[in-house]
Amino acid sequence: MTASFPERLLSGYQAFVGDRLVRERERYEALAEKGQSPEIMIIGCCDSRVSPEVIFDASPGEMFVVRNVANLVPPYEPNGEYHGTSAALEFAVQALKIKHIVVLGHARCGGIRAFADEAEPLSPGDFIGKWMSLIAPAAERAGPPSGDRAAYLAKLELASIENSLRNLMTFPCIRVLVEKGRLALHGAYFGVATGTLLLRDPDSGEFHPAPGAPLGRRPLPHCL
Ligand SMILES: [Zn+2]
Repeated sequence: MTASFPERLLSGYQAFVGDRLVRERERYEALAEKGQSPEIMIIGCCDSRVSPEVIFDASPGEMFVVRNVANLVPPYEPNGEYHGTSAALEFAVQALKIKHIVVLGHARCGGIRAFADEAEPLSPGDFIGKWMSLIAPAAERAGPPSGDRAAYLAKLELASIENSLRNLMTFPCIRVLVEKGRLALHGAYFGVATGTLLLRDPDSGEFHPAPGAPLGRRPLPHCL
């Protein structure tokens, strides 16, 4: 079977060539010459609605992005298995020497919902089930589901960001740099419906709207 390349991608590429590439050609050439040196790493969800480059209006070379189901960071486990997210972290921290790591969670996350629903495996491999078991400690800290379901899922989404930040600190190279003040870890949470971005206060662990974020009338964050 020979399927043609998606028309949507061809038209998008042509738009890129006609507009953004024209505006950013020098930047691309410089990046090709000197290599990339982003200062920010984003760990985001695969969800097609939550593109870090769109949300943060990023240009090429500015952000080193790894996306996985539910924006999770596994704990440090040097056990010879295949660790895609840990490999990206290693490269970002050791080779690129990035200065910030942002765990970017989001509202209405399908991965988090699958965990909360104890969904049936989608295939015999149950890769999502295994991957999502990473948030079990977060679910334990969030407590049993009670009351409004949307509020519980939002609570779980925020607790999962917290858990990923804890797991980041289990990587020796990250812990050392954080303790020396050369690397900062951040939590953020994007509301798909409203575009509201919440930022985690490092002192209290609470999430508050970013400056300039649009705010709805209902209480945060479960209306996002
Ligand atoms: Zn998600």
